Amino acid sequence: MKNMAQAVKLNTGDLMPAIGFGTWQLHEQEAYQAVLAAFKAGYRYIDTARIYGNEAAVGRAARASGLPRSELFITTKLWNDDNGYQQAHQAFAASLRRLALDYVDLYLIHWPFSDERLDSWQALTEIHQRGLAKAVGVSNYTIKHLEEVMVHSRLVPAVNQIELHPFIYASQRQLLTFCRRHKIAVQAYSPLAHGRRMDNPLINEIAARHGKTPAQVMVRWCVQHGTVPIPKSTNPRRIAENFTVFDFDLSPAEMRRLDDLSEGLHTTWDIDGID
Ligand code: NAP
Repeated sequence: MKNMAQAVKLNTGDLMPAIGFGTWQLHEQEAYQAVLAAFKAGYRYIDTARIYGNEAAVGRAARASGLPRSELFITTKLWNDDNGYQQAHQAFAASLRRLALDYVDLYLIHWPFSDERLDSWQALTEIHQRGLAKAVGVSNYTIKHLEEVMVHSRLVPAVNQIELHPFIYASQRQLLTFCRRHKIAVQAYSPLAHGRRMDNPLINEIAARHGKTPAQVMVRWCVQHGTVPIPKSTNPRRIAENFTVFDFDLSPAEMRRLDDLSEGLHTTWDIDGID
């Protein structure tokens, strides 16, 4: 698998590519083109979700790429109103049908909003045992939600996909430590802060020093924190740019200065306080 040198090992023993490609807000045709551009640039990991409405396009692009299935890493997610034991089984089967794949590499509970989330987790463990999802995990889970799963189930989530970029770092720091301690790999979503801080002076200063772009500095920052960023772009040049981050290092001092940009910026929902 291209770029596997930088792959992350999951608690299942499987390898997950070090960078993924995000597809939120890409409608069908846009998603198809962007995913093909991502494969061309070297990405092998594609992140989709039922709620994105583009699973079918992701599956079509995967087949059209001509790449062996074993080289790809495809993730999709259980949406909030599909929680519950039966509903989760049905929602997964429907996702797999839309993707037109035999299995996914990772299936995630998208948000911990439902009081049926433990029933959903039971369904995910069975989906995993049947080999239909090589790994299962969660997204937007806080320490409290992860502890709840770990008390009730022997299967520790392989992944927690959370919002992560320098502008939210302080709020996620304890969660990162918790996940590391329990061998839960962290995926960094909205690693470019949804495009809202590209003009930040410090990021631009560091980018200029390395001959890189602000986006590359933000993606690299996630990688050096031991997480797997999943940037999204519709633009083939930017798609390739966001993947080209393995030819430079941010110094410890630069990492610290970037960490200090924390301002509690949530580009999606703020999960704090959700029971
Ligand atoms: P993001 O990747 O942080 O940023 C995307 C924005 O940055 C877009 O506006 C994009 O515009 C722009 N951009 C991309 N590359 C750029 C570059 N090199 N230079 C300048 N601008 C650039 O935002 P995101 O889509 O919110 O997050 C990424 C992925 O994470 C999503 O697509 C989704 O797969 C996942 N996600 C998951 C959750 C969850 O709840 N689990 C929540 C949010 C996101 P262009 O398209 O015009 O390039």
